[in-house]
Amino acid sequence: MPISKNVKACLSASSWIRKMFEEGARLRAAHGASNVFDFSLGNPNVPPPERFKKVLADVSAGPDTGHGYMPNAGYPETRQAVADQVSMEQQAEVSADGVLMTCGAAGGLNVILKAILDPGDIVVGLAPFFVEYRFYTENHGGCFKTVQTGAEFDIDLAALEQAMDKKTRAVIINSPNNPTGAVYSAQTLEHLGSLLSEKSREHGRPIYLISDEPYRDIVYDGTVVPPLFPAYENSLVVSSYSKTLSLPGERIGFVAVNPATACRRELVDAMTFANRVLGFVNAPALMQRVITFMQGQHVDIGEYARKRDLLCDLLADAGYDFIKPAGAFYLFPKSPQADDVAFVKILQEQRILAVPGVGFGRPGHFRLAFCVEDDTIKNAAPGFARAMAEARH
Ligand code: PLP
Repeated sequence: MPISKNVKACLSASSWIRKMFEEGARLRAAHGASNVFDFSLGNPNVPPPERFKKVLADVSAGPDTGHGYMPNAGYPETRQAVADQVSMEQQAEVSADGVLMTCGAAGGLNVILKAILDPGDIVVGLAPFFVEYRFYTENHGGCFKTVQTGAEFDIDLAALEQAMDKKTRAVIINSPNNPTGAVYSAQTLEHLGSLLSEKSREHGRPIYLISDEPYRDIVYDGTVVPPLFPAYENSLVVSSYSKTLSLPGERIGFVAVNPATACRRELVDAMTFANRVLGFVNAPALMQRVITFMQGQHVDIGEYARKRDLLCDLLADAGYDFIKPAGAFYLFPKSPQADDVAFVKILQEQRILAVPGVGFGRPGHFRLAFCVEDDTIKNAAPGFARAMAEARH
């Protein structure tokens, strides 16, 4: 066998997005790009803020000293700038040495998991979930366990309590959520914090709460993403500039540790070591220097709000059942027939690409990413209506 059995199994488990990618290429070749309505990828299509170009130019024109190795945790001034912003968002005094610069949120999640997991430790994720969590957990010898959220994608605390045992090392939450767009309330976070405190005491070791927040600034209708740090001491925020500044290819993100976390220094040291030995070494130097001057900035959220409304209106007209997302740029409607994979095939016949809910651990739904051109949304309307009619047939 030319590749590891484990990776071979992972490849087939992760094939939904790949399948859609291949299907998109096939349909585009057959029908032309403008006749294919691809809602399968969360690749931001709104440009970075204007200020980004200026900061990039200024930073590039500066003294030619910024291309060498650096401390594995990142530039001190970048860590300070991020710490100041996170302190405001999290209503806690986060210092520069509680921040680690990473290669995107993905790099940050891997760094955290490498730092905290022993073989066989369990990481709990709430379904539907970002599909990579399972692979990231398994990268570091952990076992990924899922707990379903409620009908409105709120956290089911009773189910979570049932799922946790002595091997539970961490719980990952993601708000605003991919794929549902749900944003957890301050009260939900408080209840979650109380549950994790109780369980950590009962099991005699801390259960870390990891909040994956790359969509924090992409919220609608005045929604505010509440701070997590006041709700639970053993918590970490992992985030990036991939979505809020539309820079996913630049691989820049961070991890911030709650200042109240037990053994915070040891945890940061472990994550800094993980950043090094996972081969990231440090987050990209140029982007660290750029984002030092981009704190508090974000893409034009009005663009995504308009796309969300366009898509919601046409899906509602066609009879789809969904919860309007409070944040992020995804919609997770109910599949009009129980078999979401079969329904996604019906959509494909209309040249509409979506990802079945089963790929996120929640069958009976499908995901549409609305970070696409307005015309893609508008021109897909007849196809969505025909697919609904066929499913009801
Ligand atoms: N977490 C969630 C929920 C995501 O949707 C994504 C990317 O789509 C990531 C993490 C990874 O983001 P990054 O590009 O910053 O690594």
